[in-house]
Amino acid sequence: MKATVWILGDQLLKQHPALSLAEAEIGRDRLGIVLVESQARARRLPYQRKKLVLLFSAMRHFAAQLREIGYRVDILPAKDMFSGLQQHISDWQPEQIYYMAASEYNGRQLQNQLETRLGIPVKLVPNTQFLTGGFNPIPQPQAGKRYVLENFYRSMRVHFNLLMTPDGDPIGGQWNYDAQNRRPLPKGIQPPERIRFKPDAVTLQVMKEVADLDSGVGTVQGFDLAVTHQDAWLAFIDFIDHRLGDFGPYEDAMSSHSDALFHSVLSPYLNIGLLEPLSLVQHTEARFRDGQAPLQSVEAFIRQVIGWREFVYWQYWRQMPGLKSANFWNSQRPLPDFFWDANTEVNCLHLVIKRALNSGYTHHIERLMVVSNFCLLAGINPQQVNDWFTACYIDAYEWVMLPNVLGMGLFADGGITATKPYIASANYINRMSDYCAACKYAPKVRHGQDACPFNLLYWNFLIQHETLLRKNPRMGPNVLNLGRIGAEERGLIQKQAEKFFADNYRTAA
Ligand code: SF4
Repeated sequence: MKATVWILGDQLLKQHPALSLAEAEIGRDRLGIVLVESQARARRLPYQRKKLVLLFSAMRHFAAQLREIGYRVDILPAKDMFSGLQQHISDWQPEQIYYMAASEYNGRQLQNQLETRLGIPVKLVPNTQFLTGGFNPIPQPQAGKRYVLENFYRSMRVHFNLLMTPDGDPIGGQWNYDAQNRRPLPKGIQPPERIRFKPDAVTLQVMKEVADLDSGVGTVQGFDLAVTHQDAWLAFIDFIDHRLGDFGPYEDAMSSHSDALFHSVLSPYLNIGLLEPLSLVQHTEARFRDGQAPLQSVEAFIRQVIGWREFVYWQYWRQMPGLKSANFWNSQRPLPDFFWDANTEVNCLHLVIKRALNSGYTHHIERLMVVSNFCLLAGINPQQVNDWFTACYIDAYEWVMLPNVLGMGLFADGGITATKPYIASANYINRMSDYCAACKYAPKVRHGQDACPFNLLYWNFLIQHETLLRKNPRMGPNVLNLGRIGAEERGLIQKQAEKFFADNYRTAA
């Protein structure tokens, strides 16, 4: 009997569970492995070209690695996923297909139909890219009940025994060090450059193919990411050697001089299987136990990986398919054109969007407190915002973007993912970045010609949604401040906000 193992492009795991099972049951000699480079998937949105290079080059390196150790591997460019599979099947003639559950909803829909559509028995194994596959802290959530990240994270810490004392308490006596981890970057500190990888012949070939695509964001030039397990691991070591120590205190800081600051930039690798979460957090914890890294940074990194990453994946499956069309505020404004060329006088948006278009990466606070904050305040349609993020960011896949963008960033799910809308005026951006110093707008002015658009839109949003916001206990202080603004000033703010939208996101005199 011959069999096939179908591996998706974001499942490039060193220990792939479907491959291990198939090999144990059938034997290596009778196995064919197939990976499909789906053109339909690559063209669904105008994707960041560096993201496509990462994905396709990593797939080709993965295929080559498997061939080297004796597997028969097909890596097929095809019109779409299904036709690629059919092509492989008509050639190899397998009598059984093995695969691991897809991380995304549409992928699973296709997998569920496969046996019927192909007429071949299938064996589906659970997804092992997420720790919640082995331990789910909330296996049966109640409809309508809100579950918070903090409790989820604590259960994960206890279960995986990370930063715990033998008595079951958090090491250091605290579960998190958020309050100490909100520092702006002091003047004169330049974070170390992250490790960069020179493209090899395979990557250069992919870069050429992607450069020839008729649509896409950014350019393939300057591609310097890891495309193998080995190099992705080097990127991790580079992070824990050079940036982990300062990651915690400055994780929310933003700087025009550095895009990554002390962040790990490992999500592009984690999200396609080149790195696996448990080994990262265990090695990071070991640095603390060896006295080589401070607790506040180690805890912050571990929380990102076993807390937030796992929580959004859990939220995604809890809320799909409804999450995709969520629009709590009924926001209908189209995405502004400047999202595609960064041509705006709003300096913080200009800098962050330019980075996203050029490199496909900005860290989480720029995504949340600059881009998503603006889109929420401006009433931009959530599905268009989500598509923009998904197209532009190198680590963006549906399971992570929908809960992050619609849930956390835009509060479009009405508060299932986040307990309050993340809105802020220029105050926050001015405190946490150096962006305002070079901006034509005044970060302390609420309305009038020089007023920062974040201020104008922030107060306009509070006025517009005052009744709804009053119902959220965590929004108390924001709504309370609104009480200090009289009817005349409210009118001025609303009028100027409307003009700002009508003037294509500019404040005219
Ligand atoms: Fe952004 Fe306002 Fe600061 Fe300008 S002043 S950079 S628009 S927050």
